[in-house]
Amino acid sequence: MGDMTSIVISALNTRHTHSALGLAYIKSFWEKFPGRQPLHLAEFDLNQTNDSIIAELVALSPCILAFSVYIWSLPRTLAIAGALKAAFPEITIILGGPEVSFNSEEVLNRYVAVDLIVRGEGEVTFQELLTALLSGRSIREIAGVTFREAGQIIKNPDRGFISNLDDIPSPFRSGSYKTVHSFTYYEASRGCPSKCSYCLSSVLGPVRNHSIERVKADLDWFFASDYRQIRFTDRTFNFDLARARQIISYIKQNNHSNINFHFEIQADFLSEEIIDLLADAPDGMFHLEIGVQSTNPEALRLVNRRFNLTILRERITALKKRTRCYLHVDLLGALPGDTLHDFYRSLDDVWALEPHGIQISLVKVLRGTPLQQLVNGVIAAMPDPPYTVLRTSWLAPEEAMLIQDIGKLVEGTHNGGRFPATLKLIVCNCFAGSASRMYDAMANYWRVNHLQFYNFSPENLAHNLLEFLMANCQRPGLRAACRSLIEHELRLALKYPAGETVKGPDFAEKQKKQPWRVTQGIRVFWYEQDPLKLQTCPDKIEETVLHGVIPVAYRFDRDFSAVPSVEILQLEIEEAFMLGAIQQRSESSAIETAWAKNFPEKPLPDFATTLEKLQGAGLLYKV
Ligand code: SF4
Repeated sequence: MGDMTSIVISALNTRHTHSALGLAYIKSFWEKFPGRQPLHLAEFDLNQTNDSIIAELVALSPCILAFSVYIWSLPRTLAIAGALKAAFPEITIILGGPEVSFNSEEVLNRYVAVDLIVRGEGEVTFQELLTALLSGRSIREIAGVTFREAGQIIKNPDRGFISNLDDIPSPFRSGSYKTVHSFTYYEASRGCPSKCSYCLSSVLGPVRNHSIERVKADLDWFFASDYRQIRFTDRTFNFDLARARQIISYIKQNNHSNINFHFEIQADFLSEEIIDLLADAPDGMFHLEIGVQSTNPEALRLVNRRFNLTILRERITALKKRTRCYLHVDLLGALPGDTLHDFYRSLDDVWALEPHGIQISLVKVLRGTPLQQLVNGVIAAMPDPPYTVLRTSWLAPEEAMLIQDIGKLVEGTHNGGRFPATLKLIVCNCFAGSASRMYDAMANYWRVNHLQFYNFSPENLAHNLLEFLMANCQRPGLRAACRSLIEHELRLALKYPAGETVKGPDFAEKQKKQPWRVTQGIRVFWYEQDPLKLQTCPDKIEETVLHGVIPVAYRFDRDFSAVPSVEILQLEIEEAFMLGAIQQRSESSAIETAWAKNFPEKPLPDFATTLEKLQGAGLLYKV
């Protein structure tokens, strides 16, 4: 057995791309004192097997092993901790983090492999604890620690919150945080001014800010880094409007490589000044996450959540109209006081604001939150992580599951952003403008037909949306419009020109020796109804079915490694028609005949001039 001298701090992240910022703070604070043994930071993710994680930790021969535990990682962390204890009986195992801070005695009672628990903010407590353990001193006086001694569980008093966050060196600039991922979380403040009863932030102390100088120094470090996105963990970024203005201005002035910044905001707190400041920010620089949760005043009252709905609507509308920020709205299902009908009204309310993303999840009863007091009374939740609420006095379990499925559908359809006009068209024309009615019908359709709630590839989604529509709509004009729009939006979502369900006009004679060729990358597709008109006005459709077909020309980017970048060529109809004819190797005489058959109501264009224009624009060339 190797020398057991290393001190390892570890966490299981949800994904390989995520990092445990909390560990970086612990390391950064510990190592700021000179002469300290460096901590070894070992991060894993849920996709790794316990065996491989255990093997890696065993190879480190730790004498002290500390885990940061979250809602997603408790059971697996306990299994891994148990294995390490079996391998090294003399090891000290410490747990910390929100998932063990509020039930530390219970965890120590149930799991003998765990020796100590650090409750609440960990930086100061952990460094005091480690100093005592390494020097063999008593830990009796260390606030914020629960431990076992002579078979007894001892819970030392709570520790106060860290008042000056700048006491913790920046884990980025101190080198404690690795930079292998494309995004990172960033903490410019702790605590939240609001006290929503389901949220851990409501009990994690008052708002404390890092100084603006510290934030600017960290931002400078980010500007020079390879990160593509920085997600601020500040619970209400715009709580202090002057500070929010300073940070946004600083980012706008110095973010020359257009790194994306993500903020959680309370929209009704936004000032006109901040909206103005965001108005000329480049596309994609700011991503705003707006917690709405419910628009039912009674549900909001019951969870102690306060905002002015009218002002919230005005602010989101202003952000949408005047800025190019990406707007993401959160909704919670199964809140006390919310029936299924109330949830549907909330969904319709936020849908009307046209955010780019709507995230729907069922509320969870997190340990330490005031919502726990309602369990066994008016709400019932999973007893184990993730503690999702499954039933309330206002919502049956089947309804909760329906909301969960609708959340997955909204994520896969609307949030994917691939079929925006199609969805709008369906909502407006088949469900009387109500998105919730559409998603209710869609969830039932998905279930009855055993469709997957996770496979939303563009092809799969186009197919399923079309089938769903055909089952829900008998009007011929509307069916044709939907088919055309779905096919068109599918093409915009793909990197290659796919699918040819509608045939072009009959160009009869094919030329053996074609004098013209369409330029590479350009393709014409034919539609039953004009998808470009439908795309701009999906709420207005032609009920009449056209006799002919409509040509639309696209330019497909040939770089298959990139995200799709398909361009719609803005052509006159005779130009697109001519391109389509040449693509189908039509004889010139057949083009005129086909035009007359396809568009009997339109005069015959001067195709010689059309040809010249297309050649001049580089859309076709002479062979
Ligand atoms: S839900 Fe948001 S606003 Fe409410 S306490 Fe939590 S972080 Fe604060």
